[in-house]
Amino acid sequence: MGTPNFELAYRGTPPWDIGRPQKEYVQLEQAGEIVGSVLDVGCGTGENALYLAAQGHDVWGIDFTPTAIQKAQEKAAQRHLTVSFRVLNVLELHTLGRTFDTVIDSGLFHVFSDEERPLFVDNLAAVIRRGGTYFMLCLSELAPKLDYSKLKDFLPDFDKLKDLVPNFDKLKEGDYGPRRVTQAEIKGLFQDGWRINYIRQATMESTMGSGVRLGWLSSISKE
Ligand code: SAH
Repeated sequence: MGTPNFELAYRGTPPWDIGRPQKEYVQLEQAGEIVGSVLDVGCGTGENALYLAAQGHDVWGIDFTPTAIQKAQEKAAQRHLTVSFRVLNVLELHTLGRTFDTVIDSGLFHVFSDEERPLFVDNLAAVIRRGGTYFMLCLSELAPKLDYSKLKDFLPDFDKLKDLVPNFDKLKEGDYGPRRVTQAEIKGLFQDGWRINYIRQATMESTMGSGVRLGWLSSISKE
């Protein structure tokens, strides 16, 4: 158990949807690490994608939740920015038919099951040019899990969760929220055809609790 119902979450404002780009991505851009065209996988309501478009990058954003993409498109129009936002499952990225210099991921990878992870990596390889780089920001095993009872604060349809989540009444604190990812798992997945430039400790910003959660920021280039 752990995958939220994203459509339901985006009818409200989920805790990761902070209304501004993640600090780690602003720093990467300022350091010149984000190069050329950019694909934002699992872009949500688009803050990271819109920020990079404002900095002059050619940006596409992909998410499988229609309400998130609709919100992202509305922000782009309001801010007079051009980003190609599309509803698509990232496990079908290969159907995009183009490659990018850079792919960014803020909080997508940690959603996948064990079976989905290698499928995602194959799809990633199809949309990054050789020498291009995938940046991944995910929660680490050092970040405590969410207290599911606090979901009430940001999900307007919280009561419906009872119908959607198996064994809802038996959930304990810590049962809810995305998976925690270890460095060893990242290294294990990106062995063949990839070069890991670094995996460093990073923070993910959210609107819950202290607002800061521990994660890993990885830079991984396609060979
Ligand atoms: N990057 C955004 C959203 C992070 S939450 C941000 O930083 O705010 C994870 C996002 O991944 C959600 O928007 C969810 O809809 C999307 N997602 C999860 N699995 C997906 C899949 N298989 N294909 C496309 N999007 C997916």
